[in-house]
Amino acid sequence: MRLLLVEDDAELSAALVADLERRGFASDSAATCEDAALFVQTIQYGAMILDLGLPDGNGLDMIRRLRAQANPLPILVITARGDLESRIAGLEAGADDYLAKPFSPDELVARLRAVLRRGGSYQGREIVCGNLVFDTDNSQLTVVGRVVSLSQRESALLGLLLRRTGLVVTKRLAEDQLFGAQDLLGSNAIEVYVHRLRQKLEAAETSVEIVTIRGVGYLLKPVAE
Ligand code: CA
Repeated sequence: MRLLLVEDDAELSAALVADLERRGFASDSAATCEDAALFVQTIQYGAMILDLGLPDGNGLDMIRRLRAQANPLPILVITARGDLESRIAGLEAGADDYLAKPFSPDELVARLRAVLRRGGSYQGREIVCGNLVFDTDNSQLTVVGRVVSLSQRESALLGLLLRRTGLVVTKRLAEDQLFGAQDLLGSNAIEVYVHRLRQKLEAAETSVEIVTIRGVGYLLKPVAE
């Protein structure tokens, strides 16, 4: 998984990138809002680590813009403005978590992992992926304006995959989200739902596909043109 680090302090940025790399996170770094916006448009990141005070603007505005476009990218804010007011403003703008400088690399990585485990806490009402629109309020799937009917579990599975577009959803996570503790599960229960959902997505001619990562889980991504 690739991360995007947006930080204009070159020294801190280089140190964080090296530190993240050592812990298995490949990262790109941007020092301005403009560069960050370009990176986000071009590359599918697992998460963004964002400083708020940037030379060409405020990170909060960038979060608001992304969320207005229903972009669910998990965002961890890092900033010297550790006071309660800006912390609340960051979360209200759609950040997933907030870390005040100075922080230890250990804490950054722990928070990052927590944000990634949750798949980002932000859920816009509509998630758009390829030619598919999923309304998270009523679990309605629309493909090029046509409503596609899904069972409750099929739409739960689709929502889970969409909220983590480009990231692997483990079989275990899918089981936890789709079934209650009282449900007796066959070992292929998730496969059955993935199979049905794939058939419906195919029949509706969606431009996304569910990829099986053998032994791990599933990943939803736009079909390469
Ligand atoms: Ca700064």
